[in-house]
Amino acid sequence: MPSVLALNTPSPADLWAMDREHALHPWTQFGTFEREGALVISKGEGCWLWDADGRRYFDSVGGLWCTNIGLGRREMALAMADQAERLAFSNTFVDMTNEPSARLAAKLAELTPGDLNRVHFTTGGSTAVDSAARMVGFYQHAMGRPKKQGIVARDHSYHGSTYLSQSIGKRPGDRVEEFRYKTDGIWHLSVPNPYRRPAKMTEAAFCDWLIAEFEALIAKVGADRIGGFIAEPIQASGGVIVPPEGYLKRMWEVCQRHDILFIADEVVTSFGRLGHWFASWDEFGVQPDIICTAKGLTSGYVPMGAVLFSDRIWDVMAEGGARWFSSGYTYAGHPVASAVALKNIEIMEREDLLGNATKVGAYFEARMKELAAMPLVGDVRGKKLMVCVENVADKETKAVLPDEANESKRISNAAEAMGLMVRPMGHLNVMSPPLVITEAQADFVAEVLERAIRQVTDELVREGFK
Ligand code: PMP
Repeated sequence: MPSVLALNTPSPADLWAMDREHALHPWTQFGTFEREGALVISKGEGCWLWDADGRRYFDSVGGLWCTNIGLGRREMALAMADQAERLAFSNTFVDMTNEPSARLAAKLAELTPGDLNRVHFTTGGSTAVDSAARMVGFYQHAMGRPKKQGIVARDHSYHGSTYLSQSIGKRPGDRVEEFRYKTDGIWHLSVPNPYRRPAKMTEAAFCDWLIAEFEALIAKVGADRIGGFIAEPIQASGGVIVPPEGYLKRMWEVCQRHDILFIADEVVTSFGRLGHWFASWDEFGVQPDIICTAKGLTSGYVPMGAVLFSDRIWDVMAEGGARWFSSGYTYAGHPVASAVALKNIEIMEREDLLGNATKVGAYFEARMKELAAMPLVGDVRGKKLMVCVENVADKETKAVLPDEANESKRISNAAEAMGLMVRPMGHLNVMSPPLVITEAQADFVAEVLERAIRQVTDELVREGFK
């Protein structure tokens, strides 16, 4: 039998087989993959995807929190092609740059809050977090505090998949015995999830408790060993966790008291997902020292990330004595990626997509929150275009269903059969649609998801899970 690789015009089934036989996907679940393989997607337009068999889906996942301006824009393809023809690559190491990268650096300085006028380009979100964590150490060392290298993060956070960024993150399911993680100089605080706070504790008391936990850690470890604190303003992959009112601001104040740099991991929350260029200041009143971004920076058209940091950090690093910042990636400030990011930002400004994310986002959030009345749904949380539905066995006790129930995957499968993509994650179904979503499309998502949840609830009742 000829190898599928020899086929000139592979059919959808051939494509499925090529992938099934050769690819190791990120976060592959071996059992399911061996049985089912992967869905082959072949076209995207706006919020819609088509699979290789021509079936259409509304992508409420937004790629992976990233297709912010929507797919299939000719203008983006032309910007990419034009730059690829003019200058596809030129490195930005040491003392070289290129036109789009220089323009993008200046544009980002204009969009960031406060004095975050400096940018270190990366290849994506993980490398942005990795570089930011190293920058913290470099800065503190240059400040004459060589011991102040540690990073404080939170449980259930996701910061990427490099060795360092994955060690900083701590989603419970990601930690496996087969991998090693850096533990020295990394500490994790409790997840600020109001839904799962201790019974009988008010949200305000829970917030006080979280702040006290941070202060107690600093007292125990010593502020002279903690260089930075990293937080996603809303924890994304850890469960769309909106922290208690005032939490981020108070954590920032603790950081300021102890010369701990505040890193906002805005890989998801920047570039319009919450209706702002950056959410830490505009949504939560926090002025970070460093912001990590990626995803919406290019709306997923090409890979790119960035560490945005303050003039103060630059000045200290530049004057601190080290000869160079010995870290960086071949594709940092890639000309094509930079041209794409510039065009992406231009489109967001021209079409007021932040305005749309604010307006339709509020509508989307409200429509999703109506699902909280369903018997299977324990919590619907999030803001604007970043929302999740949490399924429970018992709304009173908030007990989760057993793993065998597999309810969130079944809900996403049921929705998929009805033409809607929602992302299953543990006991959650997660949504982060493109910023171009309309109110009619928000209604479509709400209606289909409700039908899918009802269908799976009926099955769970029949099977004795509910
Ligand atoms: N930080 C956050 C908050 C993320 O959600 C992600 C990816 N989902 C990352 C970092 C890592 O980004 P990337 O996958 O582009 O490396």
